[in-house]
Amino acid sequence: ASNRHFFVGGNWKCNGNKKSIRELVELVNAIHVERNSGIEVVCAPPFPYLDFVRSLLKKEFGVAAQNCWITGSGAYTGEVSTDMLLDVGVDWVILGHSERRHLPELQETDETIAQKTKRALDSGLGVILCIGELLQEREEGKTLDVCKRQLSAVAKVVTDWRKVVVAYEPVWAIGTGKVATPEQAQEVHNSVRQWFRESIAPQVADTLRIIYGGSVNGQNCERLAGQKDIDGFLVGGASLKPEFANIVLSHR
Ligand code: PEP
Repeated sequence: ASNRHFFVGGNWKCNGNKKSIRELVELVNAIHVERNSGIEVVCAPPFPYLDFVRSLLKKEFGVAAQNCWITGSGAYTGEVSTDMLLDVGVDWVILGHSERRHLPELQETDETIAQKTKRALDSGLGVILCIGELLQEREEGKTLDVCKRQLSAVAKVVTDWRKVVVAYEPVWAIGTGKVATPEQAQEVHNSVRQWFRESIAPQVADTLRIIYGGSVNGQNCERLAGQKDIDGFLVGGASLKPEFANIVLSHR
């Protein structure tokens, strides 16, 4: 529906081991993506497997980390810097995922996510920036307010959006099997694009990829992909299964 390149990310979350990850990479490598299709495929394994996956995955597919640190190397026990990610051939990082925003043990704030986004972009990584409302927020009619608040925090520190992909992921749809309807998703994607048009720049709004995430599978992907403002998917559960291929190829 647009000239924006279709983007499909597989968020493997905290899953897998060397054996299962090798098998999963073989599955992804077997997906036949036409060279001139413009479809972009990115896999996001847990940190310890990034290097391994980069070495096995076809060069035309990208690798994403699921998090990164706010500054460079130094006394930050347990953190991973963007320079380290680049050093092992990582192209992208997922930031602002709802699990990192909302798990009680993590509780990343809009500001932390904005700082991480800035750091990642300044380092040269692409960022898959996740936004989205909780069920209660949707029921209270606050969906757009939440998305705009999450985006505004990033817009305060980021001016160049060329290497950002926004993933709209309603929290009530993540890992629940309760996918947003194509109409529900399209409505938010359209409004988010409108926000970019008015608050950032028309050119950014026209070119920015806005992908959908939340219980996408091999069955529901096609109708979602047919929506005007849905430029791809961020896939959790189904990215660990053969149906990931159907999702990658759902854009016709
Ligand atoms: C995700 O974690 O980004 C996600 C969309 O998960 P799932 O596809 O399992 O709902």
